[in-house]
Amino acid sequence: MESQTARAGDETSNGGGPRDSASSLDVQNPATGETIATIPIDSPQSVASTVARLRTAQPEWEAIGIEGRYRWLGRLRDWLLDNSDRVLDTMQRETGKVRADASNEPVYLADLINFYGTKAAGFIGEEKVRPHTPLLASKKLRIQYRPHQVVGIISPWNFPLILSLGDAIPALQAGAAVVVKPSEFTPLGLAEVVKAWKEEIGGPDVFDCVQGVGETGSALVDEVDFVQFTGSDRTGRKVMARAAETLTPVSLELGGKDPMIVLSDADLDRAANAAAWGGMMNSGQICMSVERIYVEEPAYDEFVSKLTAEVGRLRQGADGRTFGKEVGAMTSPNQTAIVEEHVSDAIASGARALTGGQRVEGPGDYFQPTVLVDVDHSMKVMREETFGPVVGVMRVRDEEEALRLANDTRYGLSGSVFGRRERAERVARRVECGAVNVNDVLVNYFAMDVPMGGWKESGIGYRHGEPGIRKYCRTESLVITRFAGKREPTWFPYTRGRRGIVGRIMRAVNARGLKRRLGMRG
Ligand code: NAD
Repeated sequence: MESQTARAGDETSNGGGPRDSASSLDVQNPATGETIATIPIDSPQSVASTVARLRTAQPEWEAIGIEGRYRWLGRLRDWLLDNSDRVLDTMQRETGKVRADASNEPVYLADLINFYGTKAAGFIGEEKVRPHTPLLASKKLRIQYRPHQVVGIISPWNFPLILSLGDAIPALQAGAAVVVKPSEFTPLGLAEVVKAWKEEIGGPDVFDCVQGVGETGSALVDEVDFVQFTGSDRTGRKVMARAAETLTPVSLELGGKDPMIVLSDADLDRAANAAAWGGMMNSGQICMSVERIYVEEPAYDEFVSKLTAEVGRLRQGADGRTFGKEVGAMTSPNQTAIVEEHVSDAIASGARALTGGQRVEGPGDYFQPTVLVDVDHSMKVMREETFGPVVGVMRVRDEEEALRLANDTRYGLSGSVFGRRERAERVARRVECGAVNVNDVLVNYFAMDVPMGGWKESGIGYRHGEPGIRKYCRTESLVITRFAGKREPTWFPYTRGRRGIVGRIMRAVNARGLKRRLGMRG
């Protein structure tokens, strides 16, 4: 059997290149470089038959209603919490995350299950609507939210469960069946959850996964009724183009280049600690990581020295179950190469690394937590998504310059502003992106009450809040006649008298001013 190493090179996510012909996938531990599993790749035929099987089971899942589905998802929540050590061990092995970073996932998912389980009736329950005009007084209006039958989820490697199961949960709660294609770098954790759903929880046959690289992802796009994609904007464009062929709706959660603005009246200890955590958490491999920092002139020197000290203190490496390290491995070697390129491009153009700046010698795949200064917007590190433990800090004259630079990007996922609350809030309202945190970082992801999604090239659509479940539904409007005669006045036969009455009534209702209502000129 020909095998493919997911961590071997840039062409693994090529959506149809030569590597797609391999029939199995080697999964490696980025903290050690060891191969930890070899799994079979799903062919397009196998993807089609998985989707077809789930499609048959979906109507019954829809029929058990919101409460019935929440009962099943509640069992999944209990399983995740009861087995969290097992889940975290697998996740650390395939991502190289430190324990603290991995441990966010099961608790977030439990919260998400409860959030949508208790809010779904309000978000997608049947809606009563009052007709806007007396002409429809005889009609009862209702909106039903009916799920897309099968939702396909294509996910990246940086949060293997949050970004796969986390999107599956609202889709399942909405009544859809779900097939996930996890990243080829991190296929094991999700496969373990799917196995538990089938064998330990005994859940209905509405949740499954398929494994592989781009070809498997494309096949999934071809088969499903809705695509939820999280990944790079490069692949997002391919997914959208492919989905256009079957007119399949998509929601795209793509990359970011999130700015942080530090105003002169900020609490600089809090701002520096937040920048260190927001930039280095999960080794900076978060779509919403702090990547660019703009600091008002009077605060710049103090902020930079506090940030450098905090980042310089971070402990890096594998920590098993000990919670003894802050910064883990780079999950994808492709990404390490990008990080290295951005840092060396910046340094070649005059930037300085106040701490870090280099790849760590093996074993494992690590990049030092890095603070760059003397950067500007001609450098890749300030324009393109770095997705590693690197922040670039720029000195700005005032808030206007900070805003101009923060908004000077093709991305628009999220951002943060630090400063005295009223002023920081005023500045935050002018940042052009899907979510802004004031005096905090990354926290909007856990505020699932409000939507999260990208502006510009950071995506289309939203997760969380009401849109995060409605997107998995089609609206069906019901216009129900409550009382009526044998014919409506608008039906055949047309006569001057019958049409005249209709016209006069419609005019009386829609015209403004007594004379016009009575058919005269105003
Ligand atoms: P990627 O685009 O390389 O891959 C994402 C997924 O798409 C993988 O499962 C991959 O196998 C699959 N894929 C590749 N080619 C495909 C094709 N032609 N058709 C269908 N599927 C295909 O992204 P990645 O490197 O795994 O993840 C990192 C990126 O994800 C970063 O850009 C990051 O910002 C982004 N991201 C965004 C969010 C968000 O919520 N906005 C969250 C996390 C990560």
